[in-house]
Amino acid sequence: MMTDETSLSPDDMTIAERLERIQARIAAASARAGRAVDDVKLLAVSKGHGPERIAEAASAGIQVFGESKVQEARAKIPLAPSHLHWHLIGHLQTNKVKFAVQLFETIHAVDSLKLLDALNRGAEAAGRNLQVLLEVNVAEDPNKFGLAPTEVPALLEAATRCLALDVVGLMTIPPFTEDPAKARPHFARLRECRDEWRKTTGFPLDELSMGMSHDLEVAIEEGATWVRVGTDLFGARKR
Ligand SMILES: *Cc1c(COP(=O)(O)O)cnc(C)c1O
Repeated sequence: MMTDETSLSPDDMTIAERLERIQARIAAASARAGRAVDDVKLLAVSKGHGPERIAEAASAGIQVFGESKVQEARAKIPLAPSHLHWHLIGHLQTNKVKFAVQLFETIHAVDSLKLLDALNRGAEAAGRNLQVLLEVNVAEDPNKFGLAPTEVPALLEAATRCLALDVVGLMTIPPFTEDPAKARPHFARLRECRDEWRKTTGFPLDELSMGMSHDLEVAIEEGATWVRVGTDLFGARKR
């Protein structure tokens, strides 16, 4: 796990300075992969950090933030500058959908048909349109959330009837390894699955949400369009 000692960003750096470093990493990885730098968007993962840090990040120019838990987001989002955009990146229980559809524009971790349906009903009731990504457990780790790749086509089929939802892409969290290179096959697999489902289902699935602080370069080289960065932007989280 990431500790204070291994964190890449010293505690005396401002968020603006950390942001500059992350943008340089994104630019370098994009260049290596022959991708346009604005293909890759930064999602600032603010979980575990309070409203002052979010305001500081907003002053540095960040507009899109990710939170893991509905309850934490409900407490923090009303205190944040109102021009910010919020994505939910953590597992969502169906009993929290009614809050989630009010707080978030995009849900990254849709991992069941039941949740897909609940989000569609919730968004419809709220008169909102919601962007969603399907979370795929590409490593097929039984201890992790996420759909098995074989389950995804049926969800995409069901999604054609979810008129309040736009399924914009796929998300994955590979098994944690110290060595980011070990995550590469999982990121590559998500892209390959996407390419196949794009052909078989007609959903463009343009967005690939993959890569975090320690492995964002590898994810970008394998096609990430959203990298979700917490620690290297805000510093270590308290536990
Ligand atoms: C916490 C979290 C992140 C950010 O991880 P860091 O290693 O702090 O950059 C990204 N994605 C998800 C789903 C998370 O829960």
